[in-house]
Amino acid sequence: MNLVDVHCHLNHKEFEGKLDEVLKNAEKAGVKAIVVSGVNTASNREVLALSKKYPIIKASLGIYPIDALGLADGETGLARQIGKIDLDEEFTFMEEHQDEFVSIGEIGMDFNWADKEKTLEQQSETFRKIIRFAKKIKKPIVIHSRKAELQCLDILEEELPNNEIPVDLHCFSGRKHLTKRAAALGYYFSIPPNIVKAQNFQIAVELVPLTQLLTETDAPWLSPFRDKINEPAYVTETIKKIAEIKGLSVEEVADQIWKNYVKVFG
Ligand SMILES: [Zn+2]
Repeated sequence: MNLVDVHCHLNHKEFEGKLDEVLKNAEKAGVKAIVVSGVNTASNREVLALSKKYPIIKASLGIYPIDALGLADGETGLARQIGKIDLDEEFTFMEEHQDEFVSIGEIGMDFNWADKEKTLEQQSETFRKIIRFAKKIKKPIVIHSRKAELQCLDILEEELPNNEIPVDLHCFSGRKHLTKRAAALGYYFSIPPNIVKAQNFQIAVELVPLTQLLTETDAPWLSPFRDKINEPAYVTETIKKIAEIKGLSVEEVADQIWKNYVKVFG
């Protein structure tokens, strides 16, 4: 069985000094690829370095909406962004390194950490610019849409009228009608292991065809276990739950999700 974690943060402080063990756990569980996501200029460089050191790790370079705005003032455990991200500079960096990473993400919009009234316009503009850049260098995009699901879908639909590049909605928590709309647009949904207790992800799996599902962990966050931090090995929990909901075997689910991964990121 080939398993995949399409979105996590192994450059997080939680994994300092534990990475070899975490990767060994993943390999033992059958994980063959782990996409580690950057969120800003410093973490993008860390992620690239990790992907060079460990063949199982693939890099995704991101511009997190809050970091783009220069509003990331709290401690997250990830490399901090001081001030706004210079988009053009980061695009130049990405273009120079385009053979070294598999996707652009996480990107998107967030009205949980940023005030909607005050930042909607700027977040929309940044998001559009990044989508256009991804289209130009032909990379799939991984979307963060916390409390901004509708706005993200509106922009994606406008900017990608012909599905020019694959879209993965990471931890999508929109309501049913938005899930259905995104599925109809052909977007992928990556589902984290806390699906074992989070009903909104269970409903998404019911609504979205298996050919549009992916597995992720968002590690170290979103653990399926109360007493353990999340890690890529736990994609097995997502696979088991999807199998249960879809009435399929674990192998059937794992095989299709691997195919989806290769199609989107391969
Ligand atoms: Zn994330």
